[in-house]
Order: sequence, then structure tokens, then C-alpha cells
Amino acid sequence: MKHLILTGLMMAGGAFAQSQSVLGEYTTKISDHVWAIMGFPNIAIVVGSKATLVVDTGMGPKNGATIARVAAKLAPGNQKLFLTTTHFHPEHAAGEPGFPASTILIRNRVQQQEMEKHGQEMIDSFSSRPQNKELLAGVVLRAPDVLFDQEATVDLGGVTARLIWFGGAHTRGDELTFVEPDSTLISGDVVQNKTMPNIYGDGGTPSSWLAVLDKIAGTNAAHVLPDHSAPGDGSMVAAERSLISEMRTRALAFRRQGVSVEDAGKRVSEELKKEHPDWPNTNAAAFVKSIYSDPVE
Ligand SMILES: [Zn+2]
Repeated sequence: MKHLILTGLMMAGGAFAQSQSVLGEYTTKISDHVWAIMGFPNIAIVVGSKATLVVDTGMGPKNGATIARVAAKLAPGNQKLFLTTTHFHPEHAAGEPGFPASTILIRNRVQQQEMEKHGQEMIDSFSSRPQNKELLAGVVLRAPDVLFDQEATVDLGGVTARLIWFGGAHTRGDELTFVEPDSTLISGDVVQNKTMPNIYGDGGTPSSWLAVLDKIAGTNAAHVLPDHSAPGDGSMVAAERSLISEMRTRALAFRRQGVSVEDAGKRVSEELKKEHPDWPNTNAAAFVKSIYSDPVE
């Protein structure tokens, strides 16, 4: 009984939802025009006086429908709903069929190409877990209404969302959303909070990720909402940059000394654990592998 009460309280606070693929309707205010459903992943809802933009869909149509309902509740007068995705992975993009048919779907071209190449394969791989299988059953992904190369601007009425592709990082098609006048960055997996970076498959490289972070620094974000960790202020951008560049310096030194990639991964992980005892995980093995195979030194 005690356990049940505790679980209920945690869910009300949104904390329990972090590890859950089924999103609730509870929202957290990030900045004047940006709300978030905190969960797996965090979903951003950007509200202007005329239109609303949702960033990411949740895992499968049931979550997409929940998000669309929350967006309508936050701004009942807004007739137009825009939807974009931080990257093509199923918890970020495969909930699209749950949104109303009139939703205007926008994403960058590289992300769309990546989705056409690897989207179904990712849905199949996520579906090996029973809960995801149910959530992703029968998902058919549609083509976007708008594709852009580098940047698209969406006018929501008194609020502008800049959708930006700066290059590959966690994936090739990572998209960033910058909201004005809030100076809020919706950062996807590219800028996280106390979280290890991870390059998926044939996504970006550690050096391309750093180049993306240098461009992000130019936006001078005041608030950052990542997709798999807690929101924070603009200092998260510099923190991500120093994390990746320090890992890179250490791993490249090990590589020059002829240390095996496995040993380098272990040593970098141990160093990070000492420096960041409060982080949930400092396993650097996968990222050190990406550094070892990065053609740019
Ligand atoms: Zn991902």
C-alpha cells in the first residue's frame, strides 16, 4: 500500500515518467511560451497566439494523441498545429499517426533521408520489447508536408520557432529548435544534462558534434530543454562541449599511445565517474569507440 501511494505521488510530480514510454498529460513550464511533457522522451510544446508547435511525438500513435490533446488544452484557440522531430528514432518520430490529420509535419531533409533508410529498421528493433511492440504496432510513417535544408522559420503569432539543421551529432539529421523571444533551445540528444553523449549507427562523429555545438553557442540560448534529461540554462551548451572535447582529448592521447579502444573506454569512464559522482551513468565505452574511429583528429 505504501508503495502504491509513493508511486502515485511520484507520477503526479512527473519524476516517475522519466523511464516510461507512456506519456501523461502533466506539463512543466520551461519559458514564457514553451511547455514540456517530461517523459521518454521529453516533449516540447511551443505556443503562440495563432499556432502551436510540438517537437517530438512520443513512442507510437497513442502518445502522439496524448500530446495533441495536451497541445489543444494549452491553446484552445489555436487552429494550426505544427509538428517537428529532433531525430528519426521511434520515441521521437513514430507517434505522428496519433496527431490530427491536419497537422503540418516539418523536418529537415537529412533527417527524412535517414528515416527512409533506417526508420523501419529502428521500429523493428524497438519492437523487440513487448511494451514498445504494442505502442508501435501498425505504425506507417508519412512524408512531411514541408522539408527544409538548413533552416525553416515557423511564425506562431508573437513567437518564432527556428528549426535548424547544423550537421550530424547523435544522428545525421539532428534538428534543433530555437524559440524567440524566449531564447529557448529544444536540443534533442545534441545538448543533454549530466548525460553521456551517444552516436547512433552511421550518425555524426565526435568532431562533427563539436562543430554543431560551436554553431549552437552562437544562438546564446538562455533555456535548454533536452529530450532525455532535465532542462537547464544556457550553460548546458558549454558543458556539453567541454564534456565531448575532454573525452576526445583523453581518448586521442590513449590512441596515440597504442592503448586498445576497450581499455581507453574503461579509463575514460573511470575518470568521468570520479569527476561526476552525481551522474547516473558515466560509461564512455561507446563514445570512445566513436572517437577512435573518427577520421578527423
Ligand atoms: Zn535517439
